[in-house]
Amino acid sequence: MNFLSTIVTFENLHEVRRLCHWGPIIALSVIAICSTMAIIDSIIWYWPLDTTGGSINFIMLINWTVLILYNYFNAMFVGPGYIPLGWKPENQQEAQYLQYCRVCQGHKAPRSHHCRKCNRCVMKMDHHCPWINNCCGHLNHAYFTSFLLLAPLGCSHAAIIFIMTMYTQLYERISFGWSTVKIDMSAVRQFQPLMPFSVPAFAATLFALGLALGTTIAVGMLFFIQMKVVLRNKTSIESWIEEKAKDRIQHYQTEEEFIFPYDLSSRWQNFKQVFTWSGTPIGDGIVWPVHPKCHQHTLTIEQLKQKADKRVRSVQYQVVEDYNGACCPVNKGIQTFFRTPCTEEPRIPLSKGDVILATRGTKWWMYGDKVLHDDKLRAGERIRGWFPRRCVEKCHYDTASSDSTSDKKDFV
Ligand SMILES: [Zn+2]
Ligand SMILES: [Zn+2]
Repeated sequence: MNFLSTIVTFENLHEVRRLCHWGPIIALSVIAICSTMAIIDSIIWYWPLDTTGGSINFIMLINWTVLILYNYFNAMFVGPGYIPLGWKPENQQEAQYLQYCRVCQGHKAPRSHHCRKCNRCVMKMDHHCPWINNCCGHLNHAYFTSFLLLAPLGCSHAAIIFIMTMYTQLYERISFGWSTVKIDMSAVRQFQPLMPFSVPAFAATLFALGLALGTTIAVGMLFFIQMKVVLRNKTSIESWIEEKAKDRIQHYQTEEEFIFPYDLSSRWQNFKQVFTWSGTPIGDGIVWPVHPKCHQHTLTIEQLKQKADKRVRSVQYQVVEDYNGACCPVNKGIQTFFRTPCTEEPRIPLSKGDVILATRGTKWWMYGDKVLHDDKLRAGERIRGWFPRRCVEKCHYDTASSDSTSDKKDFV
């Protein structure tokens, strides 16, 4: 354990439970299968260790595996960094510019968001990643992005080994007849492999090739997305906030100008905020360097404005039909079944008589907050999610909505 903890910085040992989830189990299995198969294929069939090239190839494969696991485990166990429970700004006055998190019983520092999966307010939250079963945020952003770069590189190397192994072993030894498929395993190439390339070995290599190519494409795409986040110093959540800011300003025709405060206007500067030689990003996750025209609370004030705006633009609905919370309910119509929103966001069960404040929706589904009784509200409970549109009817005594044009904007 001592050895492990020098490589991987465990914030808390109980964090090891993060491994018990389908994401890390699948991710680690793919890493294990691809690296083991690449090493076995190289040594036995493609590039034996007694050649210089073979030794370099072997060392490189080991290197990829070590680097990938190092960044993967750090992304998982260092974690994004959480805002301390019950946190409030040093200067009490500043609390008015911040949102309050009822679950963490504290204010939300700039750039932090509450993650429902982690059940904490996360520093510079980007998203909750099921593959590391943790959030991607301030402290693990560099590890996470490095992993996204290294995994496709290592997988491409492995894929080349798999293709070359199958090619050299099967070339001219496979013939397809009308009645028989003949694979002759007796022939040898320039050097004698340690053992014949059997059908199970072929099947395992082909399977590993599929995994390696799939990982290269899927994770490679995620790397480009994440690199854009780093170079603009703007998380995916913040891109959404910026978009809503522009929409809000346009909707109310105010003369405000919204400048995103954390983009330091040079890609290199933004890059250096996240990637440092020590591995720890710059900053404490609470106070951030900002654009000269902005201040520490530019974004949080905008978020408060949007929140207030959302309240005005939300519409009150009454539940007229029970709904059990299924993703694809079978008794709510065929369109509701097939047009279920493609998101991990929860569905909320409804019972007749409930009242919902809806904030957005599609033609068949809506998203909103269940209006709760006072005792539940005080306990910090919040029931929010998707439900079929046909289960609700708009309230006539609509107090929540004062602007009918905005309803259309939200729901059409
Ligand atoms: Zn929170
Ligand atoms: Zn999370």
